[in-house]
Amino acid sequence: MTAANPMPGATRTTCPYCGVGCGVLATSDGRGGAAISGDPDHPANFGRLCSKGSALGETLGLAGRLLHPMIRCSKGSMERIAWSDALDHVAHRLKHIVARDGPAAVAFYLSGQLLSEDYYVANKLMKGFIGSANVDTNSRLCMASSVAGHRRAFGADTVPGCYEDLDEADLLVLVGSNAAWCHPVLFQRMLANKRQRGAPIVVIDPRRTDTAGEADLFLGLKPGSDSALFSGLLVHLADNGVLDRPYIDNHTSGFDDALARARAIAGSVAAAALATGLAEQDVAAFFRMFAATSRVVTLYSQGVNQSAQGTDKVNAIINCHLATGRIGKKAASAFSLTGQPNAMGGREVGGLANQLAAHMGFTPPDIDRVRRFWKAPRIATHEGLKAVQLFEAIARGEIKALWVMGTNPAVSLPDADCARAALKKLELFVVSENVLSNDTVEAGVHVLLPAQAWGEKSGTVTNSERRISRQRAFLAPPGETRPDWWIICEVAKRLGFSAAFAFASASEIFREHASLSAFENHGSRDFDIGALQAMSDEAFEALAPVQWPHRLDDSGPQQRLFGDGGFFGKDRRARFVAPDVPALRTETNEARPLRLNTGRIRDQWHTMTRTGTSPRLGQHLPEPFVEVHPDDAARHGLADGDFARVVTDYGRCILKVVVSERQQRGMLFAPIHWSEANSSAARVGALVAPFTDPLSGQPESKATPASIAPYEYVFRGFALSRALLQMPDRAWWARLTVDGGFGYLIADNANLPVWSSWLRSVAGSDLAEYSDFGGGVYRGASFAGDAIETCLFLGPAHDAGDWDVVKDLFASAALSDDQRSMLLSGKSIDGAVGTGPLVCACFAVGRNTICDAIAAGARSAAEIGLRLKAGTNCGSCTPELNRLIAQTGARESAHRKLTAAG
Ligand code: SF4
Repeated sequence: MTAANPMPGATRTTCPYCGVGCGVLATSDGRGGAAISGDPDHPANFGRLCSKGSALGETLGLAGRLLHPMIRCSKGSMERIAWSDALDHVAHRLKHIVARDGPAAVAFYLSGQLLSEDYYVANKLMKGFIGSANVDTNSRLCMASSVAGHRRAFGADTVPGCYEDLDEADLLVLVGSNAAWCHPVLFQRMLANKRQRGAPIVVIDPRRTDTAGEADLFLGLKPGSDSALFSGLLVHLADNGVLDRPYIDNHTSGFDDALARARAIAGSVAAAALATGLAEQDVAAFFRMFAATSRVVTLYSQGVNQSAQGTDKVNAIINCHLATGRIGKKAASAFSLTGQPNAMGGREVGGLANQLAAHMGFTPPDIDRVRRFWKAPRIATHEGLKAVQLFEAIARGEIKALWVMGTNPAVSLPDADCARAALKKLELFVVSENVLSNDTVEAGVHVLLPAQAWGEKSGTVTNSERRISRQRAFLAPPGETRPDWWIICEVAKRLGFSAAFAFASASEIFREHASLSAFENHGSRDFDIGALQAMSDEAFEALAPVQWPHRLDDSGPQQRLFGDGGFFGKDRRARFVAPDVPALRTETNEARPLRLNTGRIRDQWHTMTRTGTSPRLGQHLPEPFVEVHPDDAARHGLADGDFARVVTDYGRCILKVVVSERQQRGMLFAPIHWSEANSSAARVGALVAPFTDPLSGQPESKATPASIAPYEYVFRGFALSRALLQMPDRAWWARLTVDGGFGYLIADNANLPVWSSWLRSVAGSDLAEYSDFGGGVYRGASFAGDAIETCLFLGPAHDAGDWDVVKDLFASAALSDDQRSMLLSGKSIDGAVGTGPLVCACFAVGRNTICDAIAAGARSAAEIGLRLKAGTNCGSCTPELNRLIAQTGARESAHRKLTAAG
């Protein structure tokens, strides 16, 4: 049962973003909004939330929500339709296509944002009753290589450790993980361990991220060389007597082969250094630390998984933990950090094309078992198509019907232009969504089904440590929105499968899901929540966060696995896997001399359909950018703040240039969040090569050969408006939500009179203008009463007006006469500059304010916290505070040297 609610009236639920799975207390205001705080009793976060979780209350509005079913009419536009007609249509068209072309002609593409109950019925319908395994998910882009690596090593997709290990480890190794931004609350737990217990942190990443900024040892290895580093580590452990021989002998197989391969890849510290591009002393230091520390946790995420050799990388890491017996023991484990809130739940259910259900595969005994349990005579008997291959099959016309649920593949898939074009070929294209419009919907959807969103829906999610938590509703569902599971079941009934889909609630589905996990299990499968299969509705409602396995006959949930062996392979032994010799799938060349790495930023999530509605979250990094090393910037004629065109063999983008030594020479980094819905030329998925890992099917999103060149714009500026604006063709723009409306950051080469005409076409009649066309300046603002309705500031880069100042004036409900008369100067009345891009989202503290505090003597994040409160709540910005302090220190030291020399 759940602990007593510390905030009476609040609903206990779970954050809908990353795989940390933080508990949230949400208190509805009765008007569609809610106050949000961390749940102090949730074992993932103990009350802490990061910047994204803290801002959830700002993302609950209904602007842009899909509230009714819609269908494309004969004239091509989308029209509202009754639920029964929409469901009849989807079922009728699916039935027709399956009858004509067979079950392999239809597919579902699911999402790690779905609840396990939604996943369960979608998977059951497609694999059990339609008879195809073409069910895949955006989790394929997130952690499929970890799944494949776990299955090879452990015989099952099991995360052996738990979060508590991060508090108690004596060494934390982060590989390909910018946890400071992508798993912030867990990273704060690691930092607390470092502070309180002195546990050093090693960060292994081609990028010097904010996570690396907190590292005791940073290894900026060459992209794709992780397997070589961990092969070298395995050799070092073997040669220095650090192996746990009894564990290897009693619980594993394949060690000798794996060690021989490791010797061939990186047989010494020097060879590992050569293969990874690292300094020998750094490699040696890491090997020594790992060898000397029993309580070590190695955490990895997308930097490891998103690779054409991702599965081998995962196994190279796991090999080192198996060889030392440091697996599933207190504070000693290999640990996959899951990206999405319910990627783990999707895996439990079997919502991947190469799994059947409940951690069972496509072996004859598993197929037979699930067939009998589901009473499903048409069950799929072989694997379906994984995400990238699935969209390729759509492009070839082999898949005729696709149902996308809660994800935006036209943005997030690699080679996203091709994926988007493929969608136009479908005979039936159904999307279940929260939003009325996104890039996928705009790619020619035929039927739009309004799904309930976070705060409205109810069910379960599972986080990175196998902990199942409840998402609970605290808002009334708006319009005609319905739970995803209900929509799927209604279509299933219309396809003739009423008996198998007669679920009346999420709890009924959960009970069946739990029963299947335990069905003929007897300890042979890792995923077993049989202890929960007979829960009443009341018990489900009150369900406290619980880890699996939780078997019917056990004494309680299992926190860790494999400390004493007990793996799930045929002989109950773990398997050492000899990785292939590391090599990237493509070479750079004269035309594409750089490699593009893609990833996330601190305050945005996926394609911003939720986080993009928060004014606070938009302020940290408001523009789509590409990060470049200073030497590459010089070589390619780029300067910080300029624009650049990034081109790969798949697509092109125009992005703002950030010159930074955080980036390795020869590498570019661009974030994945922008889409055509919120920018003109920053859909980075279109640049990414569609190469996949042969085992996991996960795309290599971090090493696409690319070129970069300056892109000139004469004018820069911004617009602010209460309503969405249609930007002029050819302008570069990126949209963000601001207090009171929308902001557009703009660059362009068109004549200023064109912009003046544009403003007149979108602004109200009360329009004030300032133009100096000869000087390249145009500013205009229209008013509704004393508030700005729409404004536009354009000029040369140095003279476009102060975005922060004007944005604050725009947020004001009534400008004073002085403010109004000063507005078109683009400056504040007192001449002060704006606070700069937001660094601390919790207390709205900007970079300029922080730099002022550093200039005034603050020399630590704690001192900045004392002066400004920045960094004192969720802690997500403390790495950036430390970076700003370090930059100031570096500047001061350079200045001192210059002065001394002069
Ligand atoms: S770390 Fe942040 S985004 Fe992730 S679950 Fe917790 S609050 Fe949500």
